[in-house]
Amino acid sequence: MTVLFEGEDMAAVRHAAMGLAKKLNCEEESACGLCLSCRTFESGNHPDIFFVKGTKAVGIGVEDAREQIALPITTKPFKYRYKIFIIEGNITPQAQNALLKTIEEPAPYGVFLFLAKNTFGFLPTILSRCIVKKIRGSEFVIARELAEKIADSVKNADIPKAFGLYKEVESLSKEELNEFLDALYVIYGKRRNFDAVDAITKTKQIISQNGNLQLAIELMLYKMA
Ligand SMILES: [Zn+2]
Repeated sequence: MTVLFEGEDMAAVRHAAMGLAKKLNCEEESACGLCLSCRTFESGNHPDIFFVKGTKAVGIGVEDAREQIALPITTKPFKYRYKIFIIEGNITPQAQNALLKTIEEPAPYGVFLFLAKNTFGFLPTILSRCIVKKIRGSEFVIARELAEKIADSVKNADIPKAFGLYKEVESLSKEELNEFLDALYVIYGKRRNFDAVDAITKTKQIISQNGNLQLAIELMLYKMA
């Protein structure tokens, strides 16, 4: 599988690509944040997820493409389902040509995630083999998506997953956290679950008073469930 994540906000692009990489190798297939795969990924030591970096001023050159992608993909993953390459930065046309065969006839365990502001720098031959995902907007998209994910897990009675997502909530900035709670407020308002709406309002108060975030969110999740 080859995916090109494209968007002006590189932080959001990175977040989306890392989320997919994490999910693909997650033992729960959900980017749970709790399994060994997710935890090793978060600590930056995942044996089957690689960050491809250019070593030349031009970015990722032919040698980089060969040494960091085309060659390592010929061996199976060390431990997990997929061998994933997260490829960010300018890739020379020569390097793209060197990757054509790898992408055209991918190993069944091969996943290539390209990260870019736009598609201009890519050869049509590469683009035609990519699933292009447009990542729009800002960090607030992440907060809103997280709210939806949590509300969905609660709805499907998948409480461990909802709690597992807590780690992602923890990584939000204060503004994002507010956006996240506002999104939850709207979702639960629509569901007419007023106990949850109450709990969300209380959580907002606790956070504005710099109270214990973890406790507030856990309580809120219990009320939502
Ligand atoms: Zn996991």
